[in-house]
Amino acid sequence: MYYIDPHIHMVSRTTDDYESLAKMGCVAVSEPAFWAGFDRGSADGFRDYFRQLTEFEQRRSGWYGISHFTWLCINAKEAENVRLSREVIAMIPEFLDKPGVLGIGEIGLNKNTKNEAIIFLEHVDLAVRTGEQILIHTPHLEDKYPGTRMILDMLTDDSRLDRGRVLVDHVEEHTIRHVLEDGFWAGMTLYPVSKCTPERAVDMVEMYGPERLLVNSAGDWGPSKPSAVPDFILELRKRGHSESLIRRVVYENPLTFFSQSRGFNFTPPDAVVATEFPPSSFAR
Ligand SMILES: [Zn+2]
Repeated sequence: MYYIDPHIHMVSRTTDDYESLAKMGCVAVSEPAFWAGFDRGSADGFRDYFRQLTEFEQRRSGWYGISHFTWLCINAKEAENVRLSREVIAMIPEFLDKPGVLGIGEIGLNKNTKNEAIIFLEHVDLAVRTGEQILIHTPHLEDKYPGTRMILDMLTDDSRLDRGRVLVDHVEEHTIRHVLEDGFWAGMTLYPVSKCTPERAVDMVEMYGPERLLVNSAGDWGPSKPSAVPDFILELRKRGHSESLIRRVVYENPLTFFSQSRGFNFTPPDAVVATEFPPSSFAR
């Protein structure tokens, strides 16, 4: 079965991971900008990161016939530095018309602080003014419920926003209903520790149905499993769910959501030709 991983940080993964994903049926990935594991010192650090996301990762994924899409922002962890955040937000429009850019993300909250909320709202304003879609990170563990509530309140206060173009990610059992009832898309993240297991994600599909629901690995530089979406597919099959339901959640739903972005230049899998590998310019 073809599938799309709508949230994965491939800059932190190896080229061998792209190969494994391709062999398992992955035909597209979407990569939100995130925290590098350390705070970056300048807006130029982000400019180089955005070039990597919009130029090199597309080439690397193309060697395996995988389409690469991306989202741009300064993440909530670094939003405490309001001055730097504003410099980055002012620079983002330079990249918005690049092919494969789907919108602003992953913005959100981390410790639910005032500065995080200020920078979150400034990102949302940028997205609304430029007609971009939004991908949202919700906080971890004990911060998740209050943080998700704060985020939903801020979003529903903005009457300019088209809720069908906003994805609220890392939902769990205690937050998914609020996200869906408010009209947003919800993303479930399959992590070996915290967030959600494939079994819990399938429970949520059974409880809420497949409408406006996505599932991702959020593979990154920490303990994570880039091939987690196939584990979820297997769990759905074990429980006897139809192939059409599985395909809806792991393939058609991301296509429907992403198709609302002008940067979504997706080539259907039967028309993809992997680019030459390794191109001579990348020989080591
Ligand atoms: Zn992420």
